[in-house]
Amino acid sequence: MKIYIPKERATGETRVAATPETVAKMVELGFTVAVEPGAGVESGFGDDLYEEAGAKLEAGAAGGGDADVLLKVGPLTEEEIGRLRQGATVAGLLSPYREKETVALLAQKGINSLALELLPRTTLAQSMDALSSQASIAGYKAVLLAASRLDRYFPLLMTAAGTIPPARVVVMGAGVAGLQAVATAKRLGAVVEVSDIRAAVKEEIESLGGRFIELPTEEKGDAGGGYAKEMTADFLHRQREILKQHVGAASVVVTTAQVPGKKPPVLLDEEMVALMKPGAVIIDLAAGSGGNCVLTRADEETNVDGVLILGPSNLAASMPHDASVLYARNLLALLEHAMGEDSLELDRDDEILAGTLLTFGGRVVHPHFAESPAPQPTVGQDKELVS
Ligand code: NAD
Repeated sequence: MKIYIPKERATGETRVAATPETVAKMVELGFTVAVEPGAGVESGFGDDLYEEAGAKLEAGAAGGGDADVLLKVGPLTEEEIGRLRQGATVAGLLSPYREKETVALLAQKGINSLALELLPRTTLAQSMDALSSQASIAGYKAVLLAASRLDRYFPLLMTAAGTIPPARVVVMGAGVAGLQAVATAKRLGAVVEVSDIRAAVKEEIESLGGRFIELPTEEKGDAGGGYAKEMTADFLHRQREILKQHVGAASVVVTTAQVPGKKPPVLLDEEMVALMKPGAVIIDLAAGSGGNCVLTRADEETNVDGVLILGPSNLAASMPHDASVLYARNLLALLEHAMGEDSLELDRDDEILAGTLLTFGGRVVHPHFAESPAPQPTVGQDKELVS
């Protein structure tokens, strides 16, 4: 079985889907691995390192056409899909909610796809959880970015010239990125307040030294499985009213609030931004899917009366080495999980694979996206042998 690792084509994408470490493990598992020249250069992995790990170098246009498995970071381009053979398997962060045309094309071409965004967030799947490994980097970098652009210190400083109070940071959304932002801001010495609609996160926030901002409790924000549900417009209005005084006193606001498959909630409106001091910084990590702040423009800097609003949509790519190291390990763990005797088996009775499979056997099969019912496997036909 052959695995191909292309160089990512998307603008600003510096990560790579396999590292020399994971290539060596894939070779040990019995795969033939081919890497597009230059695929890992921006992550600090030269072609020579891949060759030493046992990969062949295969140039872009010709490469991958005969591969059984394509490992990707971001969604596929039409050209990449066009090059794949029917029955091949692709795994990556395929943006299934946004890339509807790509998903349809994958199904049409008979390509089986595993979208890591859909991986069940279970204990067993933790080692494959690319959303977590990459979101954690985004939360960390968001705070460093804010600190580097802020016009004041984060920590409390007592100097010969007098005392500087600590910066106040508000984090909205305490998922993986938000909790890492809390931890990083605390390490830098800031006072950190956090808003989330899932009451369960209060303890986690407090264990990191953050203060939980209480919200109206009559509407529950927990949709199960650790995810948030979409709140009513009335709730969000009341939430913004509560957040106003915290935002007005903050030097930094980091927003990370997401509801899977929905537009991110609006947590910062124009009036709230106007309450912030000139020199304050907002980092909107939901920018790529619409933003938590009404004034965010994805991947642009906006200055509103001295308040700087940044909407970086791919902060993990700003730390490509470790982002690739972790992401590649996530993909390897998924491959290992799907390994049968001597080939990849997309067993649809397996909770992790069934939860992650987006297209299979020429259909969009994931229940969130399937337009028509997926073909029911009959006994003995519930596995696809990819070889
Ligand atoms: P996410 O990116 O989907 O959302 C980020 C946060 O935004 C969530 O905490 C959500 O509650 C919050 N949010 C939504 N609407 C909001 C609003 N109006 N105001 C404030 N906050 C709002 O989350 P994620 O980082 O993907 O994590 C989702 C869950 O999965 C978390 O509970 C996390 O702990 C859990 N998780 C579990 C595992 C595991 O057990 N293997 C691994 C990773 C993550």
